[in-house]
Amino acid sequence: MKRQLDRKPHVPRSDQETIRHGIAAILRRQAMSALEISAELHIPERDVYPHLEHIRLSLHASGELLHVTPAECRRCGFVFAKRGRLTSPSRCPLCRCEGIFPPLFAIGEP
Ligand SMILES: [Zn+2]
Repeated sequence: MKRQLDRKPHVPRSDQETIRHGIAAILRRQAMSALEISAELHIPERDVYPHLEHIRLSLHASGELLHVTPAECRRCGFVFAKRGRLTSPSRCPLCRCEGIFPPLFAIGEP
């Protein structure tokens, strides 16, 4: 049985691709947090993360990488280096401080 192509996605595919191209263009110029990206493109911050995941996977084809500068605690300087997720942590595991510098994203050479 052949798989049918989904011709009627809920969100027009072209819009999603336009947003992703916009994010990629921004991140090739400078590093930005998800909040800054959301403000730049007028989309909710929570929508930025799936786009970043998609961009991260699609970049392998072009030989570029999504560089992630890890989140960092503003109070004690703890770096969330091993965090696999792209979202910002809510509090520091060492000092419990909730003031966290969010991760920054950029696209460039591996
Ligand atoms: Zn801390």
